[in-house]
Amino acid sequence: MAVVYNFSAGPGVLPEPVLREVQAEFLSYKQGVSIVEMSHRSDTFGTIVEQLETRLRRLMHIPDDYAVLFLQGGATLQFSMVPMNLRETGRFAYLDSGIWSKKAIADAKHFGDVIVAGSSAASNYGTIPDWPEHIQDVDYLHVTLNNTIEGTRYTKLPDTDVPLVADVSSNILAEAIDVQRYGLLYAGAQKNIGPAGLTLVIIRRDLITERDLPSYLAYSKHVDTLLNTPSTFSLYVAERVLAWVETEGGVEEMERRNEKKSKLLYDALDTSPLFYALVSGKNRSLTNIPFTTGDDATDEAFRQFAETRGLIELGGHRSVGGLRASLYNAMPLEGVTRLIDVMHEFEQEGQ
Ligand code: PMP
Repeated sequence: MAVVYNFSAGPGVLPEPVLREVQAEFLSYKQGVSIVEMSHRSDTFGTIVEQLETRLRRLMHIPDDYAVLFLQGGATLQFSMVPMNLRETGRFAYLDSGIWSKKAIADAKHFGDVIVAGSSAASNYGTIPDWPEHIQDVDYLHVTLNNTIEGTRYTKLPDTDVPLVADVSSNILAEAIDVQRYGLLYAGAQKNIGPAGLTLVIIRRDLITERDLPSYLAYSKHVDTLLNTPSTFSLYVAERVLAWVETEGGVEEMERRNEKKSKLLYDALDTSPLFYALVSGKNRSLTNIPFTTGDDATDEAFRQFAETRGLIELGGHRSVGGLRASLYNAMPLEGVTRLIDVMHEFEQEGQ
């Protein structure tokens, strides 16, 4: 079979050795039954969950005073669970840096007053808003650390006493994140962690309080336990993906590779006579690179041209169009060099 490189923004490419392992184990996992037939309360499955947590704590240097929760509902459910569970004064601050943060803001408004502490909407989210200078009397400050659709990211953090809450769906395990600077981090798994169906929440324990909420919606009900049946398959694959990340050298090595891959592509875009990156400057994302020719029909022609050469899912998000290459951990360097070669080929054909 010809090699296919998958540039999807998520669910995205997973490491091939992991997929092979999953395939080999699928019919019979240890006890002669498939992993998807096994009770989530069994000892065998309990070991998988324990291993998953241990690996995540090691890879992200998560201290003991943080709890790790394995949830469902995607990052989208966290848009509501965060304000429900962290509500004290009912005032929440948000940085409006892209379409996903806008959705987070819209959902938070159901639970209190949202203060938009900075917005780059006026630049069509081609940049990120600065951190607010003084922010106080709010329950938390929410930021989308990597903007998957727009291709921007934060690299510096503010000096603030307000708990920072970050959506790290598209950069978790792709670059170092200093967990101790945050009150809460959340991410859908379907980019750098595993299949869709699993959501990670990493929360400082002192922020978890008993709430008068339906059980699933309260963080306190998920601490150190599986409250209900999780997406067992997603947890199992995630544990294998994290084992792969560890074998490959950890998050620091992933970041180094992602720096290298993204630099190659940005350099190619910056010198191309036809294509250009939609984001310039120091806040370019390592994992999501939107680009264009400036013409919808030519973008679409390139998408199809690339697809016939085994480079798939290069279309931009349906809300913005254009092109986008997502370079998650499992995207090999060869995928990026191949993309650059195909861009050159397309440029030549147009001459
Ligand atoms: N936040 C960000 C930064 C995302 O990239 C996505 C999904 N692409 C979401 C939130 C929504 O995630 P989910 O589909 O898991 O709800």
